Amino acid sequence: MPKLRHYEVLARVSGVINSSLEPKRVLDLVLHEAVAAMNATSGSIVLIDPHTQLLEIEAATGLNKEARQLKLAIGRGVTGWVAKNGQPLRIPDVTADFRYVSVRKDVRSELAVPLILEGQLIGVLNVDSTRKNAFSADDEELLVALGNHAAKVIHNSWLHEAVAHNLQRLEALFQVAQSIISSLNLEDILQRVTADACRLMGSKVCSLMLLNAERDRLELRACHGASPDYLTKPALPVSDSLIGGVLRRRKPVQVYNVQEHDAYRHIELARQDGLVSLLSVPMVVGETTIGAVSVYSGAPYRYSTQDIHILATLANLAAIAITNAQLHEKVVRAEEQLRQTERLSTLGLLAAEVAHEIRNPLTVMKMLFHSLDLKFTGNDPRARDAEVVAEKMDHLNKIVDQLLGYARSNEPRLEPVALNRVVEDLLLLTRRKLQQQHIELRTELAADLPELRADRGQLEQACLNLILNAADAMPEGGMLTIATKRHAAGILLTFTDTGMGMTEEQQARLFEPFLTTKVRGTGLGLAIVHRIIVDAHRGHIHVISAPGKGTSMQIELPV
Ligand code: ADP
Ligand code: MG
Repeated sequence: MPKLRHYEVLARVSGVINSSLEPKRVLDLVLHEAVAAMNATSGSIVLIDPHTQLLEIEAATGLNKEARQLKLAIGRGVTGWVAKNGQPLRIPDVTADFRYVSVRKDVRSELAVPLILEGQLIGVLNVDSTRKNAFSADDEELLVALGNHAAKVIHNSWLHEAVAHNLQRLEALFQVAQSIISSLNLEDILQRVTADACRLMGSKVCSLMLLNAERDRLELRACHGASPDYLTKPALPVSDSLIGGVLRRRKPVQVYNVQEHDAYRHIELARQDGLVSLLSVPMVVGETTIGAVSVYSGAPYRYSTQDIHILATLANLAAIAITNAQLHEKVVRAEEQLRQTERLSTLGLLAAEVAHEIRNPLTVMKMLFHSLDLKFTGNDPRARDAEVVAEKMDHLNKIVDQLLGYARSNEPRLEPVALNRVVEDLLLLTRRKLQQQHIELRTELAADLPELRADRGQLEQACLNLILNAADAMPEGGMLTIATKRHAAGILLTFTDTGMGMTEEQQARLFEPFLTTKVRGTGLGLAIVHRIIVDAHRGHIHVISAPGKGTSMQIELPV
């Protein structure tokens, strides 16, 4: 007879609980049927939280809100005992059982069975009654069968939920991928990736770090969801940090709780921001790792294989988009440079022509002006006017000379040149001017310099421009140091002054023609220096300067 009851109940339960695939609903249905079949007063289903290992009530009937909040450790109470031992437990009188933890005052008897799935205990199903001795051995047998059946249904609903969830995430990932790949703006990509990663992974914070040019440090480039403090995080050494390890091994890393992890570098920040579980994946394009994407949860969490897979896919997509954007930037910069050089050479040609046209009339004017031999008496204001006219004609002449020099400085005539000699000869020329301006001169010329193959005249012109600029920068006097030394595969020649220095903006446009800060300047000096050193002699010019501190112009010439 009892067996028939079992079949009836199980068949009905089966029909009902298979009607939904939503986990919460499935649990409610199972419990409802169990309580009805057992003729119980109340009941609950508790599941083991895989993260906290606590028993949490997932479905309940006949329990008040407070009782529903109860979280038992495995081993505590009747449900805890069942969870620990994996055996059913039937208690005819709870007042006589030391294991019982009261959740409802009027409960007298209880029956609890384990929910076991593929040999693993996932939770406990229990029913209670206000009557003593309410459950029989037959009830126990039936509830065990019901529990086994329920465990399978619960599992299926979980699987279904996971599949649906992943499908959703894959769809979202696809959309994210399209938007990321279609952008060519680096900052924009970085922001999007971190925001999308947070959304896709349901994380609190996402950070994106990229390797520096030397590939020995990881720099924080973007962050979503963190406090401003987090953004000032210093760069991490690749060789000795948790996230560096992700790059070195090219493998994801997860940390259950960064606040308690020795290798994690910013424990204080993590505590302050409430960051708990970390998942960090490398960003790989082809054979190269360029950085890492990390997400942090706000509560303890174990990342699934699927989580890792999704974040890794996003990170690799981001890596492609970032590399593309960087390449694009390079192309734009190269184009810009090309246009600039083109502009300079057309300008040079044009200037040379104009200069020629001006030079002849100007020479005539100067000659005629001097032959006028204007002499005004003591306080005649026209005396000053005549002086100004003469000065202005000299200035014009200077511009014309330099323009022609600029246009001529294209093709160097190479010959062996001893650089120290060039410097010493120039100093003979300029020593007096420097003295008059109260500029102390220091030379540090290395004795072991190899000879250069260079155009001596052009080098003199370049050096002269640099010495004159240094002198102009020190109207109140100062010190000019000229040094030569061997450097890598060439020679380093430096002019260091203690003058007024330059701002960043000035330095950025230093070599453009016609930019000058001086009343009598032409702004052509450094354009000519650039032509001679960089274009004609394949050298480099480095400028180190700070306003009020002075300037050091460093010329690197290949041997
Ligand atoms: P110019 O000397 O005719 O002004 P340059 O091309 O030689 O033209 O220099 C351009 C500008 O760069 C100068 O006007 C000045 O502002 C700045 N500059 C060049 N050299 C120095 C220096 N040693 N210290 C400070 N400023 C400098
Ligand atoms: Mg100059």
